[in-house]
Amino acid sequence: MKNIRVRLEENSYIIYAGYLLKKLGGALEGKRYGKKVLLLTDSNVFPLYGRAVEKAVAETGREIVHALLKPGEAEKNFKKAHEIVEWCAKNRMGRDDTLMTLGGGVASDLGGFAASIYMRGINFAAVPTTLLAQVDASVGGKTGVNLPFGKNLVGSFYQPSFVYIDFKTLGTLPEREIKQGIAEIIKYGVIKSRNIFNMMKNTPPGRIKKHLPALIEESVMIKKVVVEKDEKERTGLREILNFGHTVGHAVEIAHFPQFNHGESVALGMVGESYLSWKLGMCKKDVYSGIKEVVGKHRLPFSFAGIKTDKMLDFMKYDKKARQGNIRFVMVKNIGTVKTGVVIKAEDAVKLLKEMIRDEKP
Ligand code: ADP
Ligand code: ZN
Repeated sequence: MKNIRVRLEENSYIIYAGYLLKKLGGALEGKRYGKKVLLLTDSNVFPLYGRAVEKAVAETGREIVHALLKPGEAEKNFKKAHEIVEWCAKNRMGRDDTLMTLGGGVASDLGGFAASIYMRGINFAAVPTTLLAQVDASVGGKTGVNLPFGKNLVGSFYQPSFVYIDFKTLGTLPEREIKQGIAEIIKYGVIKSRNIFNMMKNTPPGRIKKHLPALIEESVMIKKVVVEKDEKERTGLREILNFGHTVGHAVEIAHFPQFNHGESVALGMVGESYLSWKLGMCKKDVYSGIKEVVGKHRLPFSFAGIKTDKMLDFMKYDKKARQGNIRFVMVKNIGTVKTGVVIKAEDAVKLLKEMIRDEKP
């Protein structure tokens, strides 16, 4: 059990890591969270954990109502956000009441967004139940919904009042979802922690589950320190979290819906560490070490069959690209990266093609 304080002046909050859902009431102590709680969750998670949460909230004397989403990214849209705020109004929720999310990144991105706009902002509490949401979405305060033109195009920075993590909820999470979180944990290792990286390198995938609590805590600590220094992505410090995500994002879109986010980031880390090696930022064994760890955890690591030309189109026209130049996070060594390395999209893709040729026996 660990209470991790994220220090953001008036937006500071606590991440309760390693508590049981049935003790959730403790986090709601005090008047601050109002009299009503709207619980936003999806129809997979509700039957598993909804009752425990509702019971814990009811024990604090609060009224609880719920809103159910269909599982999946499709519900992360404006229409749903609108329905949620209307549901808040229908239930006469006031400024000091609380919107609580229970589920993965979809519930917390969408619920956080709705909480940030209803009455210009009500309390928001997140109970992440996917590994990805526990190590990523639970810290950083990014909320948002998708538009038909792209993901997360509308949103806000809105910090939760608290985050409550029960590691036991991962026990029911499908393997492919666990691996999405594993990809982000490997990322934390590469950007900031030899300890995490070595743990991932030395632990067989079948035995990783028992190390998850420690890995989650360390990952959350890394993200917290970065976010504390650059809450609104203004100083560039937050950029290190994008390692694997530039190539990864291009793979994700070029191959949609073949690879989920974690699988795309896995390929992205392999690709970007190859670029790092080829551009002289790191030794070859850094690239091969990353590739080996990714493969060991049964995440995709081979670029054979990857549509690099489609990736190039996407990279060139990405909103973050300037005249076809893209900022990359390059690895120097495990635990140390360099941000803001500008590479032309064409050159990056040329190198990725070279990697595909290299891969052939
Ligand atoms: P993320 O963006 O964090 O991957 P999603 O909200 O898309 O998360 O959730 C991924 C899938 O996992 C959804 O189908 C969701 O219903 C399901 N899910 C979330 N948490 C759990 C859990 N603890 N056990 C089983 N399924 C879960
Ligand atoms: Zn990510």
